[in-house]
Amino acid sequence: MNCVFCELYNRKEEVIYESKHFFARFDKFPVSPGHAEIISKRHVASLFDLVNDEWSDLQHAIIDVVKLIENTDLKKVYENSIENPLNEKSVQFCKKMLDHIGINKKPDGYNIGVNEGKAAGRTIDHLHIHIIPRYFGDIENPIGGIRNVIPKMGNYEK
Ligand SMILES: [Zn+2]
Repeated sequence: MNCVFCELYNRKEEVIYESKHFFARFDKFPVSPGHAEIISKRHVASLFDLVNDEWSDLQHAIIDVVKLIENTDLKKVYENSIENPLNEKSVQFCKKMLDHIGINKKPDGYNIGVNEGKAAGRTIDHLHIHIIPRYFGDIENPIGGIRNVIPKMGNYEK
């Protein structure tokens, strides 16, 4: 079976955190500084495949990974990713992080989410939860947050 996340865990190279049932890495195509993925150790596609023990472990993993993001020198993370690139696209994303308004700032907020199913944009069929730090001023108007997965439908205020 060829699964990038199963292989990633076996290689251990990019693992920044590990709990009983999950591990984490920094996303190779970060949308904001500190963008991380919490990935199940068990090969399951869906959040709804988790058993109770995994659900409860996930709570701890989310809290721990947020703390880890806040205590990591992210400038070093992206400099290292540029020096040891996955591919050219990843270099472009990581370079953007070095110029980002939030680099070396404590995040002001987070978007936490799962692309649950192909219709929701999932590209890798192995459960991963995106932890996306947000910073005041990172986009012009953040209102609606995750509602903006459907373009132009985020803001219902006007
Ligand atoms: Zn897998």
